[in-house]
Amino acid sequence: MDFLRPTTWAEALAAKADQPEAVPIQGGTDVMVEINFDVHRPVSLLDLNKVAELQTIELVDGVYRVGAGVPYVRIIEELPGALPGLAQAARTVGSPQIRNRGSVGGNLGAASPAGDSHPPLLAADAVIEVESRDGGVRLIPAHEFYLGVKRSALRPDELIRAFHMKSAEGPQYFSKVGTRNAMVIAVCSFAVALHPAERRVGTGIGSAAPTPRRALEAEEFLAGELDWDARLDPAVLRRFGELCAAAASPIDDVRGTADYRRHAIAVMARRTLTWAWNDYRKVRAA
Ligand SMILES: Cc1cc2nc3c(=O)[nH]c(=O)nc-3n(C[C@H](O)[C@H](O)[C@H](O)COP(=O)(O)OP(=O)(O)OC[C@H]3O[C@@H](n4cnc5c(N)ncnc54)[C@H](O)[C@@H]3O)c2cc1C
Repeated sequence: MDFLRPTTWAEALAAKADQPEAVPIQGGTDVMVEINFDVHRPVSLLDLNKVAELQTIELVDGVYRVGAGVPYVRIIEELPGALPGLAQAARTVGSPQIRNRGSVGGNLGAASPAGDSHPPLLAADAVIEVESRDGGVRLIPAHEFYLGVKRSALRPDELIRAFHMKSAEGPQYFSKVGTRNAMVIAVCSFAVALHPAERRVGTGIGSAAPTPRRALEAEEFLAGELDWDARLDPAVLRRFGELCAAAASPIDDVRGTADYRRHAIAVMARRTLTWAWNDYRKVRAA
């Protein structure tokens, strides 16, 4: 197996253009598991760990540009207020060891429907920055990035450079159901992000469809029905939960049944919206 070790972003793009079959490796918390279990035996690995550009966090005009290689631990420690939904999700990933190595870029590269970063990225309108030597930069909205089970819009000669996310404009929450509290793949998960200036609520569903996805009808329903100056109407909350559950298309598998997942999505949707709404009202009352 070849082991390619670029030290700059330009070198990494050149290596991927010359050898599109090379498998990028960042934290290795997905790649090494697959190699160890002989799921894949890549012809070559493209180690991105020396590429400093992938480790930067920049803030320009209220939008964070977070390098694909930034590990979860830095999102938890450096961005808990700016990207609260993603930071909450990051806290639930694996164990301290996994959070020290694993990255959002790797989560996106794997594009598993169960990846924990996807729902908060969707809810907060994240944009994924990808690049290739010959095709240049593409900015892909998160909701267009996921194409199928472990399939994304990334082309064979492209690498993920960063994700872009606005500093939170309102409360954000993430919730995950697992069979235990830590080191667990989501049975299903859910994220909300309030966008008060636009009178809009963003959503993200995880592990309850072939891809992470937004609950679009539920978002449209809230855009029409939410009274931003009042308490949450229980009927609106209930309908929101139902529409989120209806947006899922889960399967029965070893982690849970489709029925349970639909039920849990409705519960998490109601809970996360209630938490976010209470925070929003508290800030307005202060
Ligand atoms: C014990 C254990 C527990 C785990 N728990 C969780 C969990 O709770 N929640 C969760 O979501 N995940 C979990 N995972 C999975 C994994 O940790 C995450 O998916 C993590 O985000 C992967 O990041 P990484 O940097 O290690 O990726 P890597 O393993 O390095 O790469 C993952 C994929 O992304 C590709 N890739 C990496 N970087 C780039 C790039 N810049 N451009 C293009 N492609 C790229 C790789 O080729 C590969 O296909 C767990 C894994 C283990 C081993």
